[in-house]
Amino acid sequence: MPELPEVNTLARALDHQLKGDSIISWQPLAPKLRKPLPDTQSAEVILEQTIRRVFRQAKSIFFEFATGHYLHVHLGMTGYFRLTNDNSDPDKHRHLVIELLSGRTLSYFDPRKFGVVEILHRLPDKVPEPFKDDLSIEYIRLACQKSRRAIKTMIMDQSIIAGLGNIYAGEALFKAGIMPDRPASELSKAEVTRLYNAMLEVIDSAVTAGLKSLLPNFYIDEETTHFEIDTSVYQKAGLLCCQCRKQSIEKIDIGGRSSFYCRNCQK
Ligand SMILES: [Zn+2]
Repeated sequence: MPELPEVNTLARALDHQLKGDSIISWQPLAPKLRKPLPDTQSAEVILEQTIRRVFRQAKSIFFEFATGHYLHVHLGMTGYFRLTNDNSDPDKHRHLVIELLSGRTLSYFDPRKFGVVEILHRLPDKVPEPFKDDLSIEYIRLACQKSRRAIKTMIMDQSIIAGLGNIYAGEALFKAGIMPDRPASELSKAEVTRLYNAMLEVIDSAVTAGLKSLLPNFYIDEETTHFEIDTSVYQKAGLLCCQCRKQSIEKIDIGGRSSFYCRNCQK
């Protein structure tokens, strides 16, 4: 499932490629997604309107139109776009075909159909994201005090922090030296500070890696969200911890999600 840095990378590529262009035709091929795709008639409000910009909020992508409408896309588990110079893409898993004034075609594919493509009249309310200007240590400290849930579950709660998913939550807890199943309310002040810094660092380095992967061509296809990231624990169960080199990485289930940790480095 694409997480914040992956969605951010795709949003940046879409912005680079589509800003100033406009949609001249909207053809849903397979309307069945998590919500039904807007039909051609509902899409009329965004047709032939300039795309002002494309940006990310939480794990969603928004195309902003000069009319004040937004095209909202959530990639779900397996959604991706392809931008091509013609309309010759295969139709397998292709849900939507968007023809652009520039002559190019943007197609949306979603093999597992968990994505959302919808037209909105306003943006959803913003939840703090794991960036320095958006999230404060005090906010995390208060959220921890109020929660008896496992700290990993708490930081993945999208109503508390937007955009932190399973991979980066696990990596941040490793970096901070905190066991993922510790009750949030039991974290010390120093641990909350370490976790805050680790979340910001982990997200920042993945966002940077994603943006670097776009250069120089800003290609938009299924690979746009599949750039290389360095992980220390994610899916490394059984491998020797890269930090202490004494203990193997172990895996537990927390809140239905696989969680990886080193019992020597995390307390
Ligand atoms: Zn270790």
